[in-house]
Amino acid sequence: MTDLELLLELVKSYNPEINTERIERAYRVAERAHAGQVRASGEPYVTHPLATARILADLYMDEESIIAALLHDVPEDTTVSLEELKTEFGQDVAQLVDGVTKLSKLRYGKEQVEAESLRKMFLAMAEDIRVVLIKLADRLHNMRTLSALRREKQIKIARETLEIFAPLANRLGIYNIRRELEDLALKYLEPEKFSEIEEFLADDRDDRHSYIGQAITLLREKLLDEGVKAEISGRPKHIYSIYKKMLAKRRDFEHIYDIRAIRCLVEDKSQCYLVLGIVHSLWTPIPGEFDDYVAKPKENAYQSLHTAVIGPGGKALEVQIRTKQMHQIAEYGVAAHWRYKEPGGKRDPRLEEKINWLRQLQEWRAEVTTASEFVNALKTDIFKDQVYVFTPKGQIIEMASGATPIDFAYHIHTEVGNRCRGAKVNGKIVALETALKTGDRVEILTAKKGGPSRDWLNPTLGLVHTARAKEKIRQYFRKQEREVARIEGRTLLEKELHRLGLAQKNLDEIAKLFNFSNVDELAEAIGYADISLQQIGVKLLEVEQNKTAPPPPPEPELKPRPKPKTDVGLEIGGVGNLLTRVAQCCKPVPGDEIVGYISHGRGIAIHRRDCKNVIDHEGGEGRWIALSWKGMKQEQVYPVTIEVRAFDRSGLLHDLSGVVSEEGVNMSSVSSRSRRDHTAVVTATLEIGNANQLSRILNKIERLQNVLDARRVSG
Ligand code: MN
Repeated sequence: MTDLELLLELVKSYNPEINTERIERAYRVAERAHAGQVRASGEPYVTHPLATARILADLYMDEESIIAALLHDVPEDTTVSLEELKTEFGQDVAQLVDGVTKLSKLRYGKEQVEAESLRKMFLAMAEDIRVVLIKLADRLHNMRTLSALRREKQIKIARETLEIFAPLANRLGIYNIRRELEDLALKYLEPEKFSEIEEFLADDRDDRHSYIGQAITLLREKLLDEGVKAEISGRPKHIYSIYKKMLAKRRDFEHIYDIRAIRCLVEDKSQCYLVLGIVHSLWTPIPGEFDDYVAKPKENAYQSLHTAVIGPGGKALEVQIRTKQMHQIAEYGVAAHWRYKEPGGKRDPRLEEKINWLRQLQEWRAEVTTASEFVNALKTDIFKDQVYVFTPKGQIIEMASGATPIDFAYHIHTEVGNRCRGAKVNGKIVALETALKTGDRVEILTAKKGGPSRDWLNPTLGLVHTARAKEKIRQYFRKQEREVARIEGRTLLEKELHRLGLAQKNLDEIAKLFNFSNVDELAEAIGYADISLQQIGVKLLEVEQNKTAPPPPPEPELKPRPKPKTDVGLEIGGVGNLLTRVAQCCKPVPGDEIVGYISHGRGIAIHRRDCKNVIDHEGGEGRWIALSWKGMKQEQVYPVTIEVRAFDRSGLLHDLSGVVSEEGVNMSSVSSRSRRDHTAVVTATLEIGNANQLSRILNKIERLQNVLDARRVSG
């Protein structure tokens, strides 16, 4: 049988009503139009549209989609025009082909074009989802035949597949295509890792198969005993997901549970939970590995129960449990719309409902006005965990969201990271802790030589986000000589203690607080950036705070008061139709513990809980009610005086109070003196809530322009 005959057979098998003559005619048109053209592999070009159509037939797609797939490269690459296709095959097919052609013309990877292309792609999707499905099938076949291309092209196409097409397949819930796209992309992007995993799976295959066979037999017998009908099978391997899990969980093969996995298909939802119970009684569940996507479907409508258990022989086993209908959606996503029909050819209304979320896309399209807004809305949705930023040359760099210019610099090159002194985003100088956004163009300003700053590792400053950059910074410091590290660490420690007003502390005692036997060891650790000054500062301040905090006031001797009847939320001015007033005897303010006294005809009087009148009048049975201030809980604060030395400049006080108020901290007093050497000393009292806050404020102030240092004044 020829490939064409196979396609026609397949189409007839799932829908006898499809006009296969029309499909065959489309194939002949494509064959003639592409005559003489060959693919990079040397095969006749028409093998590509035919294979694309075959992928869509595997999804049970409709006649128009299959025909459009056969013709998808015709208007672009041959002399046959779209008009001619329209005359021959009608408006519907012509529109699909046109949609695919437009998508194919887009070149991904350059700033403007990428945003624009994503937008067009999604506009097309919102108009006719079949265009996107044809495009995905087209990409899948190109990925299957990628080996014929040059290495650079392979990498470019594989990356694009991973960044754009696989997430798209995921968004549409087409797991089948997503899995294959991801595995193929990984094969070209990380060939060594890919074959390592592949070989492991192959080596382990016999073991795994007999293990899975054994597990299936056990479960099947048990289900039979319980009278549950279910289809149980092993599950195909998704190499990319194994790869990602190994990266994310830093686990080796043995601890990736879904290497041994079975799937259980049942008739209805209640049976899912029944089977789950049976699985958990048969084998011990592994804590933290249970997910209920039945009660809480994924955004792409995926539903299933996932659990991992200690299976036969003490080996981990992943079990997925779902109904057959859930399985259709899980494998085919939006394409299940064409695939899954009730007996009699009617579409299942529940299924229609599930793919309703597609309409949301159309709503987005109506809501957002500008192209960039539209793309941003979509990007945050599809590429949630990632940001995509551009180098000055327009290259796209993918990073974890939250990444900063320093992360970017280390991503480019370790040396660029080490010498990073500033950054421009979209042409403007920005602070180094700025979180990069998708679409930003980032340029790193570097010094000729030098290394990273230890501040970069201070977590409260938020200068570095990715583990990769942090590790590189630590490596830099580790490379330094021990002696240098010790001296530098000691200097830094003394400076920090001075800054925090703790200079009189015994250094060896401090070292012991952190489990070092003496200050030299601590200084070395600081020098190597194994411990941060910030960690030390916070701990010392906490220790000191505990020591100096006044002892809690003795509990007033309260006789047990009548039990409060209700807990009434309270806002100033009263709640609902309750009339409240503040008692004049104790004048409670928000933050005080309060109670209410119901007086006849005068509403509720609010007293402090420790008010003398409350204690004296506890006899008024049933008239006291508990009250609380709504949303006005006050935090404990303590006053801290700081001193800032700076070269005098206008706006200094303004900037300083800006930093303080940014932290939500109150400045209760401030004064400034100028000195003869053009420096100014600003003394300010801050109402600090916790030690972390103080450390962060001091650090931020020190980074203001012209500031020499900022420290806490002791005593
Ligand atoms: Mn194509």
